[in-house]
Amino acid sequence: MNGIVVVGHGPAAHRLCASLHRLGHRSPVTVLGAEPHAAYNRALLPSVLDGTLPAQALELAAPPGNARVRRAAVVTGVDRARREVRTADGTVYGYEVLVLATGARPRSPGFDSPAVRRLGTLADAEPPPEGPVVIVGGGLRGAGAAAALGRAGHEVTLVHSGPRLAHRDLDGPASAVLARTLEEAGVALELDRRVAGAEHGKAVLDDGRLLAAATVLACAGSVPETAVARAAGLEVRRGIVVDDRLRTGDPRIHAIGDCAEHAGAAGDSLTSAWEQADALAGILTGSDSPYRPTRRVLRPGIRGLELTVVGPVEEPAPDGEPAPGDDPAPGEETVSLSDPGGGRHARLRLRDGRIRSGIVAGFPQAVAAVGRLYARDLPVPSDRLALLIGSAGGYAASGALPDTAVVCQCNNVTRKALRQAWDGGARALPALAAATRATTGCGTCVPAVGRLCAELARSTEGGNRP
Ligand SMILES: Cc1cc2nc3c(=O)[nH]c(=O)nc-3n(C[C@H](O)[C@H](O)[C@H](O)COP(=O)(O)OP(=O)(O)OC[C@H]3O[C@@H](n4cnc5c(N)ncnc54)[C@H](O)[C@@H]3O)c2cc1C
Repeated sequence: MNGIVVVGHGPAAHRLCASLHRLGHRSPVTVLGAEPHAAYNRALLPSVLDGTLPAQALELAAPPGNARVRRAAVVTGVDRARREVRTADGTVYGYEVLVLATGARPRSPGFDSPAVRRLGTLADAEPPPEGPVVIVGGGLRGAGAAAALGRAGHEVTLVHSGPRLAHRDLDGPASAVLARTLEEAGVALELDRRVAGAEHGKAVLDDGRLLAAATVLACAGSVPETAVARAAGLEVRRGIVVDDRLRTGDPRIHAIGDCAEHAGAAGDSLTSAWEQADALAGILTGSDSPYRPTRRVLRPGIRGLELTVVGPVEEPAPDGEPAPGDDPAPGEETVSLSDPGGGRHARLRLRDGRIRSGIVAGFPQAVAAVGRLYARDLPVPSDRLALLIGSAGGYAASGALPDTAVVCQCNNVTRKALRQAWDGGARALPALAAATRATTGCGTCVPAVGRLCAELARSTEGGNRP
């Protein structure tokens, strides 16, 4: 019997299989993934690139249930009339329902050279680079890779075509905090510059200067992978266009994750991939509920900086004063606390006491709360300052986390859960990740979990309970 066939085996496909099983789906599911590995967490690639994590630590445990996974199976075509997909080796799979979860691929930096690596797959992240690295693209992913490599002791230059880093996602002061974080990690910044080419161990800048570059790492954004959908005659704009049931124009074909475009927005994060996978599993098991994306909370993995961005980015006037015509409307207010020199900046725009947009950089205690208040559209506490600096100032000062502290925000894993997993035998970072799912989201908490590991190891040796 033909069942569900899923094209692509990334986090979206993996989550779909797990959710289908959880919801009682027991018919065949076949997953065709182009890569030779098990599904893995792509957001953690910078941690493999800098040698912090082994490649296996990124792998997601096989989904429960009866999904048959075919690795190194590249789908080359879909015959919608016969309801069949074909792989590069000529194998044909019939389907009742087809799910496209083909993700996104890194954008070209605009030139090609054997020295260029694009950070899109595990194959791109290994082996770690040797010698000087030039990173092309100072968006959040380029900055994340630069921070990771810089902290690992590599000689890194980050070249960005704009006057400030991550200008699409951050306001000016937050960009300044990010720049400071990178400089502290030893990263040299070349702003308002482009890399024109790379040859003989050098990257050539558009002003003619040469930078030593054994590796040129392209982090120039990503493009939804839509080739299979296009060839099948499905509507593609930026991504594969889907409706509120995550359905393409062909009712038997759905799309989820980074390849899909819903309500004009293409996916670009683990959270939206997971959300869509959960929603589609519900739809395929009989739910009438349409897919409704939750509000977007961006939590990029940048070593050394706790950062979150919620809602649209709104620039303040350059002098920090409200711009003409920018008087707050009744019910609106802006809360800001800026200390770029100290590596901190926060700005929240509120309407009727709820967060409309915000950027929080360098306030670790606020990241989870701001994300949660925004995602659920809850009122912020009357003491705005306590929200930013954290009411449990004591532990912030001492550096020791209380048991209730959420260490992994993506998977809501507390220090207590990690300690219990440690007591249960998970005595290293990969084992803690497998037991609790900590570090398997955006990866920002990898250093914190590493520190906790070291702390627990010391106290276990010393016979103390931390
Ligand atoms: C360097 C980097 C850093 C990132 N950092 C973050 C972060 O900090 N936070 C965050 O939320 N997100 C981050 N992301 C984005 C996150 O990884 C993606 O949103 C997530 O992986 C999307 O999952 P997906 O399953 O839709 O797609 P993907 O993970 O792209 O998986 C799609 C899979 O489909 C396969 N495929 C494609 N075409 C075919 C075909 N024709 N046949 C068979 N298989 C096919 C691909 O090979 C791939 O294995 C990052 C991504 C990168 C590359």
